[in-house]
Amino acid sequence: MKLFTRFFKFILLALVFIACGAPTNEGHLIGSVEELNKQLELAQPGDTLWLADGEWKDAEMVIEAKGTEENPIVIAVKNPGKLTFTGSSNLKLGGEYIVLSGFYFTNGYTLTKEVISFRINKTTLANNCRITQSVIANYSNPERHDNDLWVGMYGKNNRFDHNALLGKGNRGVTMAVRLNSEESRENNHQIDHNYFGPREVLGANGGETLRIGTSHYSLSDSKTQVLNNYFDRCDGEHEIISNKSGANIFKGNTFYECAGTLTFRHGHGNFAESNAFFGNHVANTGGIRVINERQTVVNNYCYGLTGHRFRGAIVVMNGVPNSPINRYHQVKDSKISNNTLIDCDYVQLCAGSDAERSATPLGTSLTNNIIWNTKKDDVFTVYDDISGISFANNILSSNTTKFKEEGFESKEGKLEQNAEGIYSVKGEMNGAGINEDFAFVKKGETGPSWFTKPEKGASFGFGKVTKVAKGADLFEVVKKSQAGDVLELGKGTYLLTKVIKVHHPLSIKSAEGARIVFEKSNLFAIENGGALQLDGITIDGAESPDYAGNAVVSTSRYSMNKNYKLFIQNCSFENLDVNHSFSILKAYKNTFADSVLIENSRFTDVSGTILELDKETDDIGIYNAEFVTIKNSSFKNIGAQIAAIHRGGSDESTFGPLLFIDHCSFEKVGHQVKNKSGNGMTLLGVQKAIIQNSVFKDVKTIDIFHTVGEPITQISNCITDVAKQFAISDNTAQISNLKVGSESLEGTDGKQVGLLQ
Ligand code: CA
Repeated sequence: MKLFTRFFKFILLALVFIACGAPTNEGHLIGSVEELNKQLELAQPGDTLWLADGEWKDAEMVIEAKGTEENPIVIAVKNPGKLTFTGSSNLKLGGEYIVLSGFYFTNGYTLTKEVISFRINKTTLANNCRITQSVIANYSNPERHDNDLWVGMYGKNNRFDHNALLGKGNRGVTMAVRLNSEESRENNHQIDHNYFGPREVLGANGGETLRIGTSHYSLSDSKTQVLNNYFDRCDGEHEIISNKSGANIFKGNTFYECAGTLTFRHGHGNFAESNAFFGNHVANTGGIRVINERQTVVNNYCYGLTGHRFRGAIVVMNGVPNSPINRYHQVKDSKISNNTLIDCDYVQLCAGSDAERSATPLGTSLTNNIIWNTKKDDVFTVYDDISGISFANNILSSNTTKFKEEGFESKEGKLEQNAEGIYSVKGEMNGAGINEDFAFVKKGETGPSWFTKPEKGASFGFGKVTKVAKGADLFEVVKKSQAGDVLELGKGTYLLTKVIKVHHPLSIKSAEGARIVFEKSNLFAIENGGALQLDGITIDGAESPDYAGNAVVSTSRYSMNKNYKLFIQNCSFENLDVNHSFSILKAYKNTFADSVLIENSRFTDVSGTILELDKETDDIGIYNAEFVTIKNSSFKNIGAQIAAIHRGGSDESTFGPLLFIDHCSFEKVGHQVKNKSGNGMTLLGVQKAIIQNSVFKDVKTIDIFHTVGEPITQISNCITDVAKQFAISDNTAQISNLKVGSESLEGTDGKQVGLLQ
């Protein structure tokens, strides 16, 4: 009887299978969009459609189906990682109870607004759907400042989990939850266990990794839960997460060395609970920024966060009275308690206080927090009236400066680290700080099980070392090189008759003092994906063409969606004056340097500018380089400027540019008649400029123009030969120990200013 029943069931299943024609077994594999569409028409609740290995180029998928709660329709890649969607592929999802698994977008970019959209159009949304085990990697529009989203979430009750999104290089939020129709509000979406991988500094607004809502609908509740995700070096801009709606929960997420903060930008009643922020003393790493009403920040752990101003470990903003919806609502009735901050540099209260942002926080409390510092004493900055914030039982390390007595207790204690790397302070903490069983999500617990996540690698020198003899064709050697390779040049002169295009990280070094001369207007062009380190080389312009505007290094002339680095160490530059405006680095528009470093180098007779980083002139907060560092180097007879750096406009969502000059000697700079600026250096909108321990002799004006963002300019321990060496647009600069006409001066480090001996 039993056997008969089984047999009958089998026949029935077979009949059903034939009747629907939908492949519910794993034997049938779908190999194209057309076939997928056909099968989708036949799909019934409970069916699984399997996708075969291969590459689908320019696949525009529109997946519409209706499953049920008990029997969803599943569309899954049979061997995740072995099917890629490339070219201009994208996916639109609409309907009910659909599960997508194993989708992998790479080697291309979408021509539409979104790579993956939880809607087909304005009326067909996805509800109760799930996308899992999927990846979008390096799928960036080549036009750096063209805007798109990788994932747009619409509808209600959708889940996005165990996916990886990494390497977005063009403008636009990586993932956004949209609230732009009634059907997408109070959505109860769940975003969990995803790996949000590295996103480079964009150098503009629009580099957020996750945004929930927009200012327009920000007074609506979204009710999205963001749980146990890993944010790995998400550096796009200063909002890692831009929360712009109400009643969202951010819980159990890990932020690893991310330059930026979780920002409660708009919307009320949100929670940040049990998140871990590991800044590890990396520049611009931040914690949580509070704006609006009824926000709760509880049981979060912050370590080694260095971010200043809006990027502090904890930031409570001032609001705008009767704020328009897109500005800053006053902080009210918010609660910041039981957080532990270890060696974090800044806690900012009433941040952003100015003529417009004058509404100070109300009804807000800061209680039971541990703020412990072993290095820095002045952690708190109070920008305005804090009478609307109550303080109780906050524990401080004894060295930490108190800005008020009530609500703070100084303690002696020692830090100890548990097996998972979390620091706590030994001793009685009166119930302050994070819970004893604080847990954070690990990298390995997030993302698709089949996908290998990127590790942190070296910038240069991770490839093989190749010796390049004097007679060898350096152009050909570079062409054959691989990422991270080091080319070692010998003694003597190398003549380059072609421009060397650098497509990957490359080091060119010489311990024997190689000299390079070149016949084209450029010696090196750093192309998209490229980075260049020069060490121990003399670059001589003796053979350069008699044209205006030559450059030793240029960027690509086309948009670059990957950032580059340029390191110049122990090098000499000479005879770069055959014609006017011969520069060392010429950046083009739509390019961005993570860092430019010059150290232990000499520049003599250069007719142009050393660093041309002023090509973003639209004045919308875009700029050409993040960190610019010049150390222990000399500059003599430079026709135009040492550096021209430009970041115009009133946008406040980026960190840079940042400039650091230390122990340099500048002599005869800026006198070439074609130097249109008339300056020896022009810094417009630089957010942090530190110039110290340096000597300026016969150098045209160093022009520093402050724009938005409370920029910091510190000039200390320098010798000049004129009183007005520095022209600064306002009186906020910190200037100390500036000596006119001195022969010698002790630097900030006790050594003589100028070049180090
Ligand atoms: Ca932003």
